[in-house]
Amino acid sequence: MNCNDVQQLLSEYLDGNLPTQQREAVLAHIAQCQTCNAELRKYQALLVQTTRLPKAITPSRDLWNGIANRIDQTEQMQHSNIIHRESKTFWRNRVLAIAATVLVMVGTFWIATRSSVDAWNVASLSGSISVGSSQVTSEGKLRVGEVLQTDATSRARVEVGLIGHVDVEPNSRLRLIDASLTDHRLTLDRGTIQATIWAPPRLFFVETPSALAVDLGCAYTLHVDSAGSSTLEVTSGWVALEFGGRESIVPAGNVCATRPGFGPGTPHREDASGTFKHALTTYDFEGGGADALHTVLANSRNMDSITLWHLLFRETGEQRAAVYDRLAELVPAPEGVTREGTLSGDREMIKAWQKHLNLGVKPWWKFWQM
Ligand SMILES: [Zn+2]
Repeated sequence: MNCNDVQQLLSEYLDGNLPTQQREAVLAHIAQCQTCNAELRKYQALLVQTTRLPKAITPSRDLWNGIANRIDQTEQMQHSNIIHRESKTFWRNRVLAIAATVLVMVGTFWIATRSSVDAWNVASLSGSISVGSSQVTSEGKLRVGEVLQTDATSRARVEVGLIGHVDVEPNSRLRLIDASLTDHRLTLDRGTIQATIWAPPRLFFVETPSALAVDLGCAYTLHVDSAGSSTLEVTSGWVALEFGGRESIVPAGNVCATRPGFGPGTPHREDASGTFKHALTTYDFEGGGADALHTVLANSRNMDSITLWHLLFRETGEQRAAVYDRLAELVPAPEGVTREGTLSGDREMIKAWQKHLNLGVKPWWKFWQM
C-alpha cells in the first residue's frame, strides 16, 4: 500500500469501517511512514478538538436585546453613516454567530457518526487469553469495564481504539476503563505491556497501582509487579508519570520506577552506573536524603542531565544550588542564563534550559496547541 492509497483510506479508517486486512495494512504503513503518520495525527487532532467544542451556542438574553435595540436604531436612523457602519458590524456578527452554530452542528454530527468505537479489538498473539467471561484464541473485543488476562504462556494485542496498540505479555491483567475518543484508558494491575501510540499527547492513559502513565506520543514498556511497583522504559517519544501532584517526564532512552505511596521516582538513563542508579533509588524511595543526592551528583555524566533537571525542581535551598552547580558543570548554561535566575525560577531561563537540554516541545505538539 503506498501513501496515496493510505491517505485515501484514512477517513474510513477513523470511521472504524475498514475490513481487518485493510486496517492492518494501513496500520503497518503508518507505523513506518512519517508523512502518513502526520496526516493521521492531523485528522485525530481535529476530531478531538471537535469534541471539545461547546455542545450548543445559547445566545444570552442581553445579546438578543442588543440586537433588537440595534434593529430599532437602524430603522430610526437609516441614513446616518455612523449607524450604517454599526449595521455592518451587526450583520457581520450575525453571520459569524450563524457560522459558529453550523460548525458546532457539523462537528456534533461528525462525532456522532464516529463515536461507535466503544470496544477495542483484541487478538491472541499466542495461546488463549481471557477477556471478560470468555476465552479468546484468535480475535475478539474488549469492552469498557472488562478485564483481559494472559496466562504464563499467552500473549495478546489490544488495538487502542484507532490511535495505536498495546501488546500484553504473559501473566498480565488489565481492565478497559474508558474507550472514548478523548480518553483511552486502561488499568494495569500486574504484568507487562508494550504500548505504541500515534496520536496527539494526552489521549492514552494507563493507571497502575502507584502512578498514572500519560502518553505524550510514544512507544514504551510498562511493567507492574505483585507489590504494585512499576517500571517504565520509553523507547520513542515521551511519557509523563503522575501521582499526587508529583510528575516525572520520561523521554526515549530513559527508565523510571514508581512505588505505591511515593508515585514516580526520578527518570534516568538505562546505561547509568550501578552506583548512580542505587543512590537514586535510595533517594527516591528509601529516605536517602542529602547523602544519596550527593552520590547521584558525583556519579552523573552529561547525558544524565534529565535526572539532574528533575532533581532541581524537587530540591530547595542549598541542595537545589548543589544540583544546579553540577548540572552547569556537565552542561554549560545557555547564553543569557544565570545561576541566580534559574534558582529563583525565572520562566524565560527555565525555558532556555529546557531547549538547551533538548527537553523542549516536539514540533507537532504545536499543531496540537493551535
Ligand atoms: Zn505514507
